[in-house]
Amino acid sequence: MDFEISHEQRMLVDTVRGFIKDELAPLEQQVEDSGVLDDATAHAIFEKSSSLGLYGMNIPEQFGGGGLSCLDQMMCEEQFGHTTDILIRRAFGNVYEVLLSCTGAQVDRWLTPAVKGDRVCSIAFTEPGAGSDAAGIKTRAVRKGDKWVLNGMKHYISDGAFSDFFVVTAVTDPEKGHRGISMFLVDKGTPGFSLGRDQQMMGIRGTSHLDLHFDDVELTDANLLGTEGEGLKLALSVLGRVRLAQVSARAVGKSTKILGLTLDYARDRVQFGQPIGDFQMVQQMLADSAMEINATRTALWQTANKIDRGLDPRADISALKVQGGELLDRVVDRAVQIFGGMGFSKDLPIERYYRDARIYRIFDGASEVHRSVVAKTLLKGATDLYDPWSN
Ligand SMILES: Cc1cc2nc3c(=O)[nH]c(=O)nc-3n(C[C@H](O)[C@H](O)[C@H](O)COP(=O)(O)OP(=O)(O)OC[C@H]3O[C@@H](n4cnc5c(N)ncnc54)[C@H](O)[C@@H]3O)c2cc1C
Repeated sequence: MDFEISHEQRMLVDTVRGFIKDELAPLEQQVEDSGVLDDATAHAIFEKSSSLGLYGMNIPEQFGGGGLSCLDQMMCEEQFGHTTDILIRRAFGNVYEVLLSCTGAQVDRWLTPAVKGDRVCSIAFTEPGAGSDAAGIKTRAVRKGDKWVLNGMKHYISDGAFSDFFVVTAVTDPEKGHRGISMFLVDKGTPGFSLGRDQQMMGIRGTSHLDLHFDDVELTDANLLGTEGEGLKLALSVLGRVRLAQVSARAVGKSTKILGLTLDYARDRVQFGQPIGDFQMVQQMLADSAMEINATRTALWQTANKIDRGLDPRADISALKVQGGELLDRVVDRAVQIFGGMGFSKDLPIERYYRDARIYRIFDGASEVHRSVVAKTLLKGATDLYDPWSN
């Protein structure tokens, strides 16, 4: 096991870090204030990042992506955590690995344009009656001759306003429960498919969260992603890496950035004639944040390494989903405390980080759901989750 950061990894991370600092960070406040990232700026960011090869880095090279290993991707994703969701999406792309299941003509229609950034994709699984219980969806696709007819609705769909197409789950065989769910690729503009309201959220301003409505939308087998009835199985097999990247790694990055700002403040802010960082109770908060960040990053790299070795560490990913979300929650909460009134004030971005952090314990599976995956895996006898010497 080698924990040394290679020269190539250093260069990659420095490039991403520099791009975020120079090109994205200056835009954060205006997006926060206006609630939108205008199309011209979005396009300019995309042009710059893709010219540096920074778009779609997670996708294998044979499909036009950057071909990063999982570990290298996590190192980049940690840096992505230093900026906001919408700027990450436009600069680096959220090119979901589930699209690698495209076959035949689907590759040119959906996968390749997504990797190039010509077309943007969103994932549409959640419904008002089915969040944590992804198998409880009501959206239905019924086969009629050589067509599928799709009816139902989705909500909270991130980036829905900007996206060109959607990966949509639908029940294709109600008798078969979770084995009767399939995935479809649905283009914006397909007759019967309409965009609903943009759900206003506590944080991550600039990213839209749309309702989607499907009213007798006609699709064909060309729209079916993967095998009929295996939509949830496919989702489970590919979304782990997405969680690790978009939640755990970004949470480590956000926590790192926030702790850096907090340390600066603790050194500079003087009360009772001394920097507040000299107070032991403040020191405890700083030390706890640093120790927890390091522990989570180490676990993240270990899990990424397992993926790179061809393993399928689902319970480790669930553990990291919980650890990342809850790490960020604690680190940003301590930051608000140490910044005092300035932590609560809109004069500084700390209050924004606090609001943006809260969703990390909920989306991509709530902490409770992932904890129960960990516990059930342990109870089945998976001792390697906490004891590497057990196998
Ligand atoms: C900002 C944002 C962006 C999102 N983006 C997308 C997107 O792009 N695409 C998409 O498809 N979805 C998206 N979602 C949906 C998101 O993944 C769900 O909100 C999440 O899975 C939880 O579902 P729910 O909100 O319906 O909560 P519920 O399922 O109603 O759960 C509520 C609470 O109940 C508890 N709970 C639920 N199940 C269990 C259990 N088994 N054990 C113990 N406790 C449990 C947990 O505390 C949980 O937080 C997004 C949501 C938000 C808020």
